[in-house]
Amino acid sequence: MSIAARRLLGLAFANADMLLEIEPGGVILLALGAAQATLGADEKSLVGKSWRNLIVEADRPMLDALFGGIEDGARRSPLIVRVAGQPGRAVAFTARRLPDNGGRISCAVLAAPPPQAAGGADGLLSRDGFEAITKSLMDAAKITGQQLELAMVEMAGFADARDALNDEAGAALERQVAGALRAESHQGSAAAKLGDNRFVLLREQGENPATMIKRLSRVVSACAGGESLDASAHAVPLESGSPARLARALRYALDDFIEEGLKDVPPHSLSQAMDRSVRRTLSKAGELGAALSQRRFTLAYQPVVDIQTGVAHHHEALVRFEDGGSPFSMVRMAEEFDLIEELDHAVVEQVVRQLKGDRTGALKLAANISGRSIGSEIFVGGLERVIKADSRLRDRLIFEVTESAAIDDLDVANRHIQSLRGLGCKVCLDDFGAGAASFAYLQRLKVDIVKIDGRYVRDLASDGRDGALVRHLVQLCKELKVQTVAEMVETVEIEDAVRRAGVDFAQGWLYGRPADRPGPAIVRETAAAAPPALAPVAVRRTGTSDQWR
Ligand code: C2E
Ligand code: MG
Ligand code: MG
Repeated sequence: MSIAARRLLGLAFANADMLLEIEPGGVILLALGAAQATLGADEKSLVGKSWRNLIVEADRPMLDALFGGIEDGARRSPLIVRVAGQPGRAVAFTARRLPDNGGRISCAVLAAPPPQAAGGADGLLSRDGFEAITKSLMDAAKITGQQLELAMVEMAGFADARDALNDEAGAALERQVAGALRAESHQGSAAAKLGDNRFVLLREQGENPATMIKRLSRVVSACAGGESLDASAHAVPLESGSPARLARALRYALDDFIEEGLKDVPPHSLSQAMDRSVRRTLSKAGELGAALSQRRFTLAYQPVVDIQTGVAHHHEALVRFEDGGSPFSMVRMAEEFDLIEELDHAVVEQVVRQLKGDRTGALKLAANISGRSIGSEIFVGGLERVIKADSRLRDRLIFEVTESAAIDDLDVANRHIQSLRGLGCKVCLDDFGAGAASFAYLQRLKVDIVKIDGRYVRDLASDGRDGALVRHLVQLCKELKVQTVAEMVETVEIEDAVRRAGVDFAQGWLYGRPADRPGPAIVRETAAAAPPALAPVAVRRTGTSDQWR
């Protein structure tokens, strides 16, 4: 070994347990130091191997990007990767391309604690995971003095480029891009995907984001067959301050980025991003308030069928605003801005109108009531007056108490539920299993029906843990004399599993999507074979286009 290389070694060892020298194809040419303690193999056995065999598969694209992205002589901050075949063992890699040496890379390797946060299969974090890691890194930065920034990365056309490839090549591109983003992030484990083309990561301050974009673009175009993507990045420093303020500012800044991207003038700071986002939210809340007071919304109706007969037992009314899409974000906003009682009241008003206009008298409708509204004396008092005013409504109106907002006072909520039940209306606990409090609700709220959250139902056919959970829940409900509904039944396989689990009612694409009038459920062979006499709602002929009259 030449003197120059030894000097370099000395430098690297000052901060490393061992040193690897790797040729451009990935083969290890030199391994020196505490190989056994760091990588679990002796020095000699490492030489001639590819570094790729040493590292878990999910972390390889990250090192690919690290090695592919280093300029001659440039040194990047350490990335933590997990050692293959040795659970719990991780090492930090710092790489430097040796100048004028045929593209060889010198890596200082240091034993390291495994990454704090587990990302998905590609190592990217969820939004929640990203917010959590930011918080813990900022806590640590108070001690270490490390200066971090939030980098927002937009890759216009990434999703299109991926979709244009076949499945295998598309998945490979996603893995490489995820690896490249992680390689730019603090220790390789602080990057998240926020949307099709939008990503965020935390990294040390100091480098122009344009340099990072150059590296990322090189990786993307290498994987996308030379195609270059229009990528841009913008970084804002993470300001110190109270943890609560930082968490709030980060949340709003991420919302701002998700909604606006980087197309307009990006914010200079986290606080500015937060201000922008708050202003936009307030203006949307104002629009929602106006839409409610002017009754600018419609209802969509989805059948809930008796699982034995396949016939619609009742329909759930789902609110639709002008965009026609899922109202979920509006409902959340209404809950946050105290508009929810007004929303729920306006929906019940329209549901009642629909019931009164039904000439058959057989139509039954379920209205969603937020967990927040059910706790309100004024709201429930209003419902009671409406029901008492028309005796034909009593057993045709069902209330689904949703879990989108937590119920503050279970005793009050239960009192209100019992008074609605006392008037002849059935009450259903919606979204069972979606929140942490579901069992407490079931214990403290006496209801007629439990609706099992779609996330458990959808996995039922695969017969994993969720299947066992649903079966036990149905059993428990039977003992409590509570009926059950399975939502999001999309396939015959799921329907079979739901039926086997003993569920009473089902709802989902299989029986009909939400439509602008309460129509009959789609009739399929199994359902059609059942005796129609059991049908509480008259059924016209088959087909999705048929509407209730
Ligand atoms: P939810 O009460 O659990 O309503 C069921 C949601 O699942 C509806 O979404 C429906 O369109 C969807 N869905 C039904 N079948 C299937 C299926 O087979 N597959 C899939 N993937 N989805 C299915 P939607 O209409 O977007 O409503 C979302 C949530 O918004 C509702 O969940 C409810 O929590 C809330 N919401 C809707 N309307 C109202 C309302 O009038 N008042 C209140 N407070 N909340 C409402
Ligand atoms: Mg519902
Ligand atoms: Mg639900």
